[in-house]
Amino acid sequence: MAWVGQRAERNGGFLHRDELLGFQLGGERMPIIDIARGIRNPHAFGSTLSIVASADGPYDDMESSDGFLHYAYEKGDADGGANRKLRNAITTSQPLLLFRKEIKNIYMPVFPVYVVGDRPQERAFRIALDESFTWLPDLDRLSEPQRAYAHRLVKQRLHQPAFRTRVLVAYQRQCSICQLKHASLLDAAHIIPDSHSHGIPTVNNGVSLCKIHHAAYDQDMLGLDADYRVHVNKKLLTDKDGPMLKHGLQEMHGRQLWIPANKKEQPDRDYLRERYQAFVERNAS
Ligand SMILES: [Zn+2]
Repeated sequence: MAWVGQRAERNGGFLHRDELLGFQLGGERMPIIDIARGIRNPHAFGSTLSIVASADGPYDDMESSDGFLHYAYEKGDADGGANRKLRNAITTSQPLLLFRKEIKNIYMPVFPVYVVGDRPQERAFRIALDESFTWLPDLDRLSEPQRAYAHRLVKQRLHQPAFRTRVLVAYQRQCSICQLKHASLLDAAHIIPDSHSHGIPTVNNGVSLCKIHHAAYDQDMLGLDADYRVHVNKKLLTDKDGPMLKHGLQEMHGRQLWIPANKKEQPDRDYLRERYQAFVERNAS
């Protein structure tokens, strides 16, 4: 898990299929995922190491209104095959890794996750994103704050990293403003914030930005117009400071954004216009 975490951090939040299949432990190859089955059960393990889910959009069919993820049994014998070791994880409370396959060959890790229940009538396991759920006696009767916490976890640990992965891959892992290519320093910025009802986590409502440009964008220190041009606010333009202000911010004024060639992935001009209007109004006062 530590290795997956470090690798994902370096890559910008995700791993390539080949990295996961080529992992070695003690000089021996030990694939972290099982592409064919979805459930990876190393021979020496008493319970499952990882599960893979495919996401066709920003949300996937694993999500349930009860705040947990529901992971379908492997086809066939409900008590045998790969299902057996996944079920073992309920009693051992051993953490496992969940990988969401966001795009072809790109896997976003979510870990640790816990198998907290069995839903035979749905032929699915219940997966929780926090260890605390393994201690609760009855997961069918969560209190309102517990349910709210479960939903918040899904947003923080699933939706937000999935959005970052999709945006960073679309932008070939570079800042749209300054072209910085250090993935660990890149974020996916929402154009329409996700606190708004239409602030959806789709790539066309996002821009890949480095941490400094993301923070400046969110604080309306810089704006992006519908023609993909960067505007730095007047106060910042006239400030005096060191090289970061001069080169990192002031010199970005008037620059054209680098955007993906695929039209579907380009920032939506209506979203940009709406957000830019807010930037103009905020800086007029
Ligand atoms: Zn940047």
